[in-house]
Amino acid sequence: MAEMTPQATIPRIIDGKAVAAELRADLGERVARLKSAHGVTPGLTVVLVGDDPASAVYVRNKGKAAEKAGMVAVDIKLAAETSQTDLLAHLAALNADAGVHGILVQLPLPDHLDAGVIVEAIDPDKDVDGLHVINAGRLMARLDGVVPCTPLGCLILLKRTLGSLEGKKALVLGRSNLVGKPMAQLLVRENCTVTVAHSRTRDLADECRAADILVVAAGRPEMVRGDWIKPGAAVIDVGINRVDTGADKPKLVGDVAFDEAAQVAGAITPVPGGVGPMTIACLLENTYTAACRSVGAEPEAPA
Ligand code: NAP
Repeated sequence: MAEMTPQATIPRIIDGKAVAAELRADLGERVARLKSAHGVTPGLTVVLVGDDPASAVYVRNKGKAAEKAGMVAVDIKLAAETSQTDLLAHLAALNADAGVHGILVQLPLPDHLDAGVIVEAIDPDKDVDGLHVINAGRLMARLDGVVPCTPLGCLILLKRTLGSLEGKKALVLGRSNLVGKPMAQLLVRENCTVTVAHSRTRDLADECRAADILVVAAGRPEMVRGDWIKPGAAVIDVGINRVDTGADKPKLVGDVAFDEAAQVAGAITPVPGGVGPMTIACLLENTYTAACRSVGAEPEAPA
């Protein structure tokens, strides 16, 4: 396998913001074609329970992005004390609504609600977060399902940067249901040789140094240092950590020590501006795909 070098012609900084903007513009055209060919407008409903300000911003951004792509976006805001029974009743109504193709319940939920039960109550075909156990099983079994947005975004960035991933050694640091596990499955599907590392992994730095592709989703600020990275490797930093630097606002950093890593990696995502924008773009892609499937239409791949 030809190895990348730090001077390779691929861009060293993977601009997730630009790729996400491109995807979203292209999606607008695909949504318009779906409407004219099948008379269906993809509909995304986001359910927010409680008044966590950060979640409210995420929900607003998702709605705006969906509308910009020509979709119908609806936010359902419920009081923090909403009971599990009431929330389940809302989800049952959304499952039955033919105009709703994607349902997302913004996490985290207030403590009295069981997120596992809530996620499993969403129709798997409308589960645009891809967190339902049926979608996890479909991914594992290589069946058509809904792939969680963040790992899907990471995969798109990797393929755009490297082309074929076949035969590459990939290490995924983290094994959450949201990121690490589906990421590993996607890389296996691309014919990578995949290692999944976690908090009990021995010799973590050595394991990382063996990887051509390193996807880091540990939630530990700047844990991965420059000397953990194989020269020329592609590094995808999923982490979003707010660290107090004594300034007015906390600083946003990833799970990778960016300045060190950028000296060694062949390509690397920044934080912010790397994986984050891809997550919303992929949520819209999943909603479009769900709408296509609801009318038996083949989803068009991005140009
Ligand atoms: P999570 O559920 O907390 O999982 C973290 C994983 O990292 C676990 O598997 C854990 O191992 C492993 N880990 C933690 N500390 C470690 C250490 N010191 N050494 C080795 N492994 C360690 O987190 P998550 O939901 O996957 O999210 C990970 C990060 O991605 C967070 O910063 C989150 O904010 C960010 N995120 C970003 C986006 C985005 O759109 N960019 C989306 C989702 C998440 P164990 O399993 O052994 O505990």
